[in-house]
Amino acid sequence: MKRSTFLKTLAAGLATAGLVGFSSLAQAQDKGLVAVSMPTKSSARWIADGDNMVKQLKDKGYKADLQYADDDIPNQLAQIENMLTKNPKVLVIAAIDGTTLSDVLQKAADKGVKVIAYDRLIRGSKNVDYYATFDNFQVGVLQAQSIEKSLDLKGGKGPFNIELFGGSPDDNNAFFFYNGAMSVLKPYIDSGKLVVRSKQMGMDKVGTLRWDGAVAQARMDNLLSAYYSKDHVDAVLSPYDGLSIGILSSLKGVGYGSGSLKMPVVTGQDAEVPSVKSMLRKEQTSTIFKDTRELAKVTVAMVDAMMSGKAPEVNDTKTYNNGVKVVPSYLLKPVSVDASNWKQVLVDSGYYKESQIK
Ligand code: BGC
Repeated sequence: MKRSTFLKTLAAGLATAGLVGFSSLAQAQDKGLVAVSMPTKSSARWIADGDNMVKQLKDKGYKADLQYADDDIPNQLAQIENMLTKNPKVLVIAAIDGTTLSDVLQKAADKGVKVIAYDRLIRGSKNVDYYATFDNFQVGVLQAQSIEKSLDLKGGKGPFNIELFGGSPDDNNAFFFYNGAMSVLKPYIDSGKLVVRSKQMGMDKVGTLRWDGAVAQARMDNLLSAYYSKDHVDAVLSPYDGLSIGILSSLKGVGYGSGSLKMPVVTGQDAEVPSVKSMLRKEQTSTIFKDTRELAKVTVAMVDAMMSGKAPEVNDTKTYNNGVKVVPSYLLKPVSVDASNWKQVLVDSGYYKESQIK
């Protein structure tokens, strides 16, 4: 008997006997392998992404091959090459450097393997089928609105001193975050209500390679000693919690947050536990929550649709031009979190347990 005929007969037999529903058998069926390449374990969000992907793939009957590349580009390339030898149906990739994957993606295409860019756009290749992410421009808007609100810029307050940090220039998202933030901040900078004493603006000046917190800390040290020996810095635009932690250490190192030296407004992203704790200590001001469970859900739905010959659901077919094509995308909504709503957004949703934070 052929395996598929055998399974059908077995399912029918068990269902008749009332022993097992067909759906649970369907779940256990093997729909093939999905390879998931993640950038790093150094940040909790990517660990959550990987865990959620594996769980949701398994729930839908896929096998998963999850690998982390330690933020090392050759390592990620080698891992993807290795994944391809196992004949996956789909490759899901959160790229370290979104421009370095063209050759390996051509190999994937030659083997008929579908590719989904996960969270970060893969640039310069036609072999990217779909993109699942959050509204990255909106992330920047929300970060800047937290500064706008905390300093009451709308109420006409100012001038205030601000310094700007960007993410990794090899990550397409970093530009979206920065541009989104500047869409809110630039008018205040132009009118003089916000002053960038260092004059360091633009991703070429404020980018932070590999999202490295130590690099951000060193840059903040330099900014403070060069421009703020007499002046007070009132706000720091930080695109990611891991950078915010470095920036805050630098600020604390010269006395901010104690005595009369008020801690500036400091933003962030990912709602990582140390940063949520920092918000409750009144150090970091805000962060952006991106529910990785939802991102995994959207991505797995894309996998499942492609594997059943259906068109995956997308909600954006204009924004994400990777230099070769516009990649059809599904954008989820990011949520701004601060001391006023963290419990409702992060705990009531079941993302964290309150005991993890307090
Ligand atoms: C992600 C952010 C994350 C950053 C650093 C970006 O591509 O979208 O959520 O903070 O990488 O890991």
